Amino acid sequence: MGTERLLTERIRGLIRPASSSGRHQGAGRTPELGREVYQNSIMAALIDGVYDGDVAVEQLLERGDFGVGTFNHLNGEMLVLDGTCFHLSANGRVETARKEDLSPFSVMVRFAPDEALEVPTPMDRPELTQLIDDRTRGPNLIYSVRVDGNFSEVRTRTVREQSAPYPPLIQASADQAETVFTGLQGTLAGFRTPEYLQGISVAGYHLHFIDELHTRGGHCLDFRILSGTVSICEHTALRIRLPAVGKFLDADLSSPDLGEQIRDVEGR
Ligand SMILES: [Zn+2]
Repeated sequence: MGTERLLTERIRGLIRPASSSGRHQGAGRTPELGREVYQNSIMAALIDGVYDGDVAVEQLLERGDFGVGTFNHLNGEMLVLDGTCFHLSANGRVETARKEDLSPFSVMVRFAPDEALEVPTPMDRPELTQLIDDRTRGPNLIYSVRVDGNFSEVRTRTVREQSAPYPPLIQASADQAETVFTGLQGTLAGFRTPEYLQGISVAGYHLHFIDELHTRGGHCLDFRILSGTVSICEHTALRIRLPAVGKFLDADLSSPDLGEQIRDVEGR
């Protein structure tokens, strides 16, 4: 076990349990390392078609118990919830990922919510995200977000496995499978990321959905929630691991319309 891992283990032991009191109490309470976001590769690389995974699920789960991402060759959506990594496939299947499965892009945290709040009334996506925004300490920190609830509708998409030479994401996602689920219990999990990180990550809300029975889900494009609970956790550190091999090394990561492409493919 390396020094860093030892330190992480030690600090994790110090992290206090979640509290549901007050929006400003989270900051400064938990050591920064416990609030670190671990990200594998950057969104700009995915946009340019860098789909070869080089980090295994097993390694990701050492970095956190909550997160989103995609799999090797863009083969479906990843959702990590309570330490289980789910693989949401374009054919509609949901399976538990194998520990050796690889990911070309993923974002992981240790989810220890600072607060939880009830969804006060049925809300669509803009209303719920506004409710969450109002509970944050402004636009410039990263928040992990979990919403457990009863949804009247959830619209998702799931990217399909690509083969080399890989097309850029804007082309690959034109082929994505879109699904509308109605009347179901489930969980939205993901992040609210500051605008200044667009290209590094996905600015704004990036949420994946899985139903209560863990049989259906995908990257969430839109939803309407009837009732439920929102939990949010503030993050004050970001660690980015860059792929040091393959197509990443000479990928074009500075496309002038990068922001527009990300908004297009992420559906916002
Ligand atoms: Zn996604």
